[in-house]
Amino acid sequence: MSRKKDFVDKAIAAAQEERGVVLVNTGNGKGKSSAAFGVVARALGQGMKVAVVQFVKGRADTGEAAFFREARKVFPDKLFWHITGEGYTWEIQNLPRDVAAARAAWDLASRYLSDPEFGLVVLDEMTYAFKFQWLELSEVLEVLSRRPPMQHVVITGRAAPQELVDAADTVTDMVSVKHAFQAGVKAMPGLDW
Ligand code: ATP
Ligand code: MG
Repeated sequence: MSRKKDFVDKAIAAAQEERGVVLVNTGNGKGKSSAAFGVVARALGQGMKVAVVQFVKGRADTGEAAFFREARKVFPDKLFWHITGEGYTWEIQNLPRDVAAARAAWDLASRYLSDPEFGLVVLDEMTYAFKFQWLELSEVLEVLSRRPPMQHVVITGRAAPQELVDAADTVTDMVSVKHAFQAGVKAMPGLDW
């Protein structure tokens, strides 16, 4: 145990660099977006300016949207939250509309990614834009690489492309061991939305 502690202490002492980090939360398990929203709370608490761009319009009445709308009163001019895009659908996709929506979301996101005032940018459900080829991955990687040096970025969504995983600093693959939905439990307020 003490040898392990020595090892960890050395690793902590060796990690001296301070810079912005790109996180990717991917995989089929639950927790990708909610972990990103936890980081939003953390960053606001540290006085940072935060932007959230949601690439897939789910429901607008989520607990996180309501909570962070209230939080804007406590942290004025610190939090910018955009719900963009079209709803995800199992129906045949409307390609021109989806591409335009993804582009609009990306235009917004790129503005934050070039603004050093923003310490954290969350791009929620962005991976779908690559899956359906609504956005050029190479363009996104280029903008990410040129972002302000102290800016953190969290990208969420299933099936993150390998090149994005390679470019990111911290990648978490959420594994679904089981999910209540499979046992017939509907999406529950306060837990799922
Ligand atoms: P959360 O927002 O709860 O962190 P997520 O971002 O990891 O979830 P998404 O793929 O964005 O997951 O799906 C969002 C919704 O689908 C949430 O209501 C979540 O509870 C539900 N969900 C997530 N993973 C699963 C799963 N493995 N099976 C069924 N439903 C899921
Ligand atoms: Mg999600």
